[in-house]
Amino acid sequence: MTALVWFRRDLRLADNPALAAACAEHGHILPVYVHEPDEEGAWAPGAASRWWLHHSLAALSAALKQQGGGLHIRTGGTLDNLVTACRAAGATAVYWNRCYEPALIERDKHIKAALREQGIEAKSFNAALWVEPWQVATQQDGPYRVFTPFWRSVRPRLEPQEPIPMPAMRFAKAKHGVTLKSLELLPRIHWDKGLRETWTPGEQGALEALELFADDALNGYARLRDLPARHGTSRLSPHLHFGEISPRQIHHILHRQTQGLAAKRRPDLEPFLRELGWREFAHHLLFHFPQTPTDNFNPGFANFRWAKPDEALLERWRHGRTGIPLVDAGMRELWHTGWMHNRVRMVVASFLTKNLRQHWHEGAKWFWDTLVDADLANNTLGWQWVAGCGADAAPYFRVFNPVSQAQKFDPQGGYLRRWLPELKDAPLPLLHEPWKDGSLLSRSGYPAPMVDLAQSRRDALGAYQAMRGRD
Ligand code: FAD
Repeated sequence: MTALVWFRRDLRLADNPALAAACAEHGHILPVYVHEPDEEGAWAPGAASRWWLHHSLAALSAALKQQGGGLHIRTGGTLDNLVTACRAAGATAVYWNRCYEPALIERDKHIKAALREQGIEAKSFNAALWVEPWQVATQQDGPYRVFTPFWRSVRPRLEPQEPIPMPAMRFAKAKHGVTLKSLELLPRIHWDKGLRETWTPGEQGALEALELFADDALNGYARLRDLPARHGTSRLSPHLHFGEISPRQIHHILHRQTQGLAAKRRPDLEPFLRELGWREFAHHLLFHFPQTPTDNFNPGFANFRWAKPDEALLERWRHGRTGIPLVDAGMRELWHTGWMHNRVRMVVASFLTKNLRQHWHEGAKWFWDTLVDADLANNTLGWQWVAGCGADAAPYFRVFNPVSQAQKFDPQGGYLRRWLPELKDAPLPLLHEPWKDGSLLSRSGYPAPMVDLAQSRRDALGAYQAMRGRD
């Protein structure tokens, strides 16, 4: 008997429940990837995600080849492709791991029912989360809206479980697949040099990133995670998004590494698990409030007067030419590497939504296209949180001051100098406020600030008060 294993956002062979179950319950498997971005609705992968996806599929395909098989790639409507591939391979079942984005939930429900109608067994599994969104509820049996009680309910359930080992695989023969190259996921013009220099997509790359983190930055994570000049966080976000590694594997490996240490020397496992908890919370929210990628979580914000979309302002923000060093450094880091440090994400998002009062949708869209870790749950949570309209959000009146944030979290200016080469010789404290020396701006070619930070902050607070007055 043969089963299809339909790979989606679970691009790994170890700790993959659908793959393990298919191998245990069927003599042969056929690993399949179906490319049909239109089925993801408004949230088909952006350019940086497509780059990652190409390389991650290449890595998965190579890993399957090493086991004597390969990845069967098809394009077009998923249901038809799965049925055709089943018939061609003589398969009687399709196994997959669940996704949690609203459009994919609908699509997958439909596929499950349609396969069963055609006499094909369909089984789905959890490979991405510690707890699936419907497995936790408040005392009133509703969804959580605040992180701390959510985490208080989830954390005690988490044991460092043994991951599922990669199974032994025997492969069915496939017909009429297409090549990975034909999916045209890679950019036609080569803007991806920085991505290639920064990342190793794939399961092996994910394990290496985790090992590096476990050996180095985990010890001191709570202190260093806010310093963008340091390699102080795991950089696992794109690997997690594409399912090249699971939270269970991360927990198990880090627990094993740290349990033998004396309490004093034990690294910062708990604060790190808590960040993974935010990822779980984001998925919980997206599942229970599926309209939030477009609608404000807090309906009171329907009355908020955003400024009109201004392409000229947006272009300066997107390309790191605002004249505010920490904002520009972050946006250039994003453009070059497809990733941005979390502290800086908060600062650039606050600058866009408060100092420029552009709608958070504009920022979410740009991040969607440029982040290698673009993730509907996390990106929605992040933007709504900073904009003040989200679940458990930063209060609107918390406007990040990008100058004091840089002074506090990049006091030596290492991050600013790395991403703003025109200011690399600027002395401190001017580096944090280069407009205080007009000759520095003219010498370096670095722009003057596009807005007055203090005035735009006051304007933002005024708009917020006006909204409350309209409640
Ligand atoms: P670490 O500090 O090593 O954390 C480990 C993991 O925990 C991360 O890989 C991530 O999966 C999860 N995590 C950490 N912080 C958060 C958080 N605040 N919310 C949800 N999960 C978190 N993260 C994405 O993965 N994709 C996005 O599209 C995304 N968009 C964001 C947009 C904005 C405006 C903001 C403020 C944050 C956004 N984040 C997003 C959250 C966070 O910035 C990144 O997850 C983090 O910077 C990734 O780096 P890391 O893997 O080194 O994190």
